Amino acid sequence: MENNTSTCAVIGAGIAGIAAAIRLANKGYKVTVFEANNYTGGKLTQIEKSGFRFDAGPSLFTMPHFVEELFQLSGKDTKQYFQYEKLDTVCHYFYEDGTVIRAYADKEKFAEEVAQKTTENKETILHFLEKSAKKYALTANLFLFSSLHKMGTYLTKETLKGVLGLPTLGVFKTMNRANEQTFKDERVTQLFNRFATYNGSNPYETPATLNIIPHLEHNIGAFMPKGGMHSISQSLYKLAQDIGVRFVLNSPVEEIVVEKGKVKGVKVKGEFYPFQLIVSNMDVVGTYKRLLKQQKQPKKLLNQPKSSSALIFYWGIRKQFDQLATHNIFFSKDYKSEFEHIFQKKTIYEDPTVYINITSRYCPEDAPAGCDNWFTMINTPNNVGQNWEQLIERARQSIIEKLSRMLNTDVASLIACEEILEPRTIESRTSSSLGALYGNSSNNRYAAFLRHANFSSKIKNLYFCGGSVHPGGGIPLCLSSAKIVGDLVPTA
Ligand SMILES: Cc1cc2nc3c(=O)[nH]c(=O)nc-3n(C[C@H](O)[C@H](O)[C@H](O)COP(=O)(O)OP(=O)(O)OC[C@H]3O[C@@H](n4cnc5c(N)ncnc54)[C@H](O)[C@@H]3O)c2cc1C
Repeated sequence: MENNTSTCAVIGAGIAGIAAAIRLANKGYKVTVFEANNYTGGKLTQIEKSGFRFDAGPSLFTMPHFVEELFQLSGKDTKQYFQYEKLDTVCHYFYEDGTVIRAYADKEKFAEEVAQKTTENKETILHFLEKSAKKYALTANLFLFSSLHKMGTYLTKETLKGVLGLPTLGVFKTMNRANEQTFKDERVTQLFNRFATYNGSNPYETPATLNIIPHLEHNIGAFMPKGGMHSISQSLYKLAQDIGVRFVLNSPVEEIVVEKGKVKGVKVKGEFYPFQLIVSNMDVVGTYKRLLKQQKQPKKLLNQPKSSSALIFYWGIRKQFDQLATHNIFFSKDYKSEFEHIFQKKTIYEDPTVYINITSRYCPEDAPAGCDNWFTMINTPNNVGQNWEQLIERARQSIIEKLSRMLNTDVASLIACEEILEPRTIESRTSSSLGALYGNSSNNRYAAFLRHANFSSKIKNLYFCGGSVHPGGGIPLCLSSAKIVGDLVPTA
């Protein structure tokens, strides 16, 4: 091992960049994180307006042990930095026919609720969740927690079990097909099809392997951090600083300098800074196209179809609705058409499924008394130059009409303040290619193998983490990418 590989630059202070910095500091590296924005956390940030606080990006927190692991690794007491609780109710689902399903965290209670509100049997739901757990146990180690690009991964007993079990995982069926065959009630199929959106995919295209996702929410649980989702990135930011990581904000990296097939350092504001090791948390498309312009581009990997994006209205609402929980879904009548509009027609459907996240249900200080903070989101196509002004205006109208109809109240008159995030601003604020929320989509069965590896096979000492590379987007997988990088990098 070379003894000069002790300084490391991380490009980007998204959740994966911060986690990678913590892991490398624990391996003895002197780590500097360069962040383009004047804040850390990337998509995991917050908005404060007129007495309301909103989590700006992620709202659903699963697999908290990935966060806790970083405090334990650093020899710190998690509770001093970060606290969370399990939610009793995962989500409230509203359908246009008036059905309301409360998805309780307690599996038995949830299955009973579904059986009561639909034509489905309790046992079918419980069996589906059991199968989801088994599929997860077979696949997680191979697809989520290891590098798919190192021979060693394929030589473990666990991985071998996963590979042998592949035919039973539904790789040859779509999620919707498998769910239609399992459930007789369309409302239940729609409920479980929704899990494809957890990584920005289309249930009518994505393989049924993604039916492992309900396991995370229904068998393990959905959690709520004290202080909101923003506290995930901020507690890790504090931890990183406490163990000696240096953060340089307002400092977009302009180039990764490479010499004789090995990284030499980075250029920031025209200045060269030498580093022996570099981890890019910038979207991999931008990393190659903007920071590695002179290098050979892995065109096939960079051109893979991207996940969906989103349009969010952050609304301060002058009322509290008893029927709403922390997570709420108002389903579209025609889910198939909705996804055709997002992925094929690249536009917003006239009756989009609306998701409302209300953290003030859990953290009352997030809204003034008697009010709630609505994070009102619909899935949208990624940004390919649509007329967004027009689409946003129309979507705002159809969302307000839908919610007013389904909540039997004039929602427009309750809006006290508003902020908007949309595909173009998601792209410009975090450099996400096309404003995609989760990097590549998983709309084909080979998608897992078509994400960029967590290391460069051409440039020595260059590594990648974050939602645009293996194993994919979402907080748990971003944290997993940082862990894989930590495992690949030699001790300093
Ligand atoms: C609206 C929305 C809702 C979501 N909902 C959920 C959810 O409920 N649950 C969930 O798990 N996930 C959700 N996600 C996805 C999740 O937010 C992301 O997968 C994750 O936060 C991505 O983290 P990251 O580390 O890859 O990078 P990012 O958060 O994208 O951060 C990358 C950072 O790199 C910086 N950067 C880029 N280029 C440079 C450069 N050249 N120099 C220096 N810095 C640079 C950027 O400024 C940014 O801070 C959601 C995302 C959005 C936008």
